[in-house]
Amino acid sequence: MKISKKASRVEPSVTLAASAKAQALKAAGSDVLSLTVGEPDFSTPKNIQEAAILSIKSGKASYYTGSTGLPELKQAVIERTKIDYGLTYEPKEVIITTGAKFALYALFQVLLDPDDEVIIPVPYWVSYGEQVKLADGVPIYVKALQENDYKITLAQLESVRTEKTQAIILNSPSNPTGTIYTKTELTEIGRWAVKHNIVIVSDDIYGKLVYNDHTFVPISSVSEEIRKQTIVINGVSKSYAMTGWRIGYALGQANIIAAMGNILSQTTSNPATASQYAALEALNGTQETVEKMRKAFEMRLNTIYPKITALPGFSVKKPQGAFYLFPNIQKTLQMCHYQNVDDFVNDLLEESQVAVVTGAGFGSPENIRLSYATNLDTLEEAVRRISDFIESKIKEH
Ligand code: PMP
Ligand code: GLU
Repeated sequence: MKISKKASRVEPSVTLAASAKAQALKAAGSDVLSLTVGEPDFSTPKNIQEAAILSIKSGKASYYTGSTGLPELKQAVIERTKIDYGLTYEPKEVIITTGAKFALYALFQVLLDPDDEVIIPVPYWVSYGEQVKLADGVPIYVKALQENDYKITLAQLESVRTEKTQAIILNSPSNPTGTIYTKTELTEIGRWAVKHNIVIVSDDIYGKLVYNDHTFVPISSVSEEIRKQTIVINGVSKSYAMTGWRIGYALGQANIIAAMGNILSQTTSNPATASQYAALEALNGTQETVEKMRKAFEMRLNTIYPKITALPGFSVKKPQGAFYLFPNIQKTLQMCHYQNVDDFVNDLLEESQVAVVTGAGFGSPENIRLSYATNLDTLEEAVRRISDFIESKIKEH
């Protein structure tokens, strides 16, 4: 059978591919340590699990909800956003989706006409560019420099802006770098977007995962005019250890949200009803578990970071949020006589059974990504193995 040109052009998610490869090796009996996929190793907190079970037993989960989500869950999103952001949204400005990933997908379908451009800072999360292309848009990549803490500047944005620029994607804290933009920086970018009527797609999924006294400032909270220019993307996957439940949401202008609703009604319909009841408890119930998990990630970061920076040739700035380390390993590659990062990553997996993700999928082929959303023993053993691997490669020559 023929595969469409559009589908042939889509790259699979490198994070999910790397994680699947590691899992397959594990299933075949290999002692692989996987630092690939970005998902908390904690299971979903009990109160959330129980809310879902109750919705199943009571029969409520047997049925469709409206395709844009349960009204109670929209209300819970509104309340949580009021508490966390200090902003008030109306129910018609909220939509519940099958993961934040589908919120982004539906949003690009709504925002873009063929050849419309979307500015994407590099390094980027793997799905942004592909989703823009699936909506017939054109990703315009702008390299955020390591020397500038992986933040793009206004001058860079201005240099790529054209008549076709429809949107810019901001992901702070960032996957993969963990960088957080400051209020001043966000104000500048926000004003620029307002001035040129460019939609700000603000992917806030790691907003609750910030460490060592850094703070997350949502760009939507900077000013009312910037809020109006912004579509907020968020979800429960990362903060509530709920990746498997597939609940995300978007907040923004009612006409955009309504158009996203039409797309949902013709594609996914509502996200699984039991998952929506679980998310309702996540947002309305105790937030103590969120803080417990955040502290655990912070402790892992603080323990593992010095060991990672000590690896030969590794250059990595300490992340402020999310749960990834994104070392530049250009020097290591030279020391170990590798031509590219993909070969290094493949050999590391085959010879030392440590799975990491190549930076190429994030637009940054000098880096690798390591997720520290896994237990400390695994992390420490992985660093030992990486260190031995590098030493052995240096000695080989
Ligand atoms: N945005 C970013 C930056 C992410 O890392 C992820 C993780 N997959 C998502 C969005 C989507 O999350 P989910 O679909 O699980 O809600
Ligand atoms: N966002 C996670 C990651 O970057 C999950 C994988 C994915 O959705 O691609 O690892």
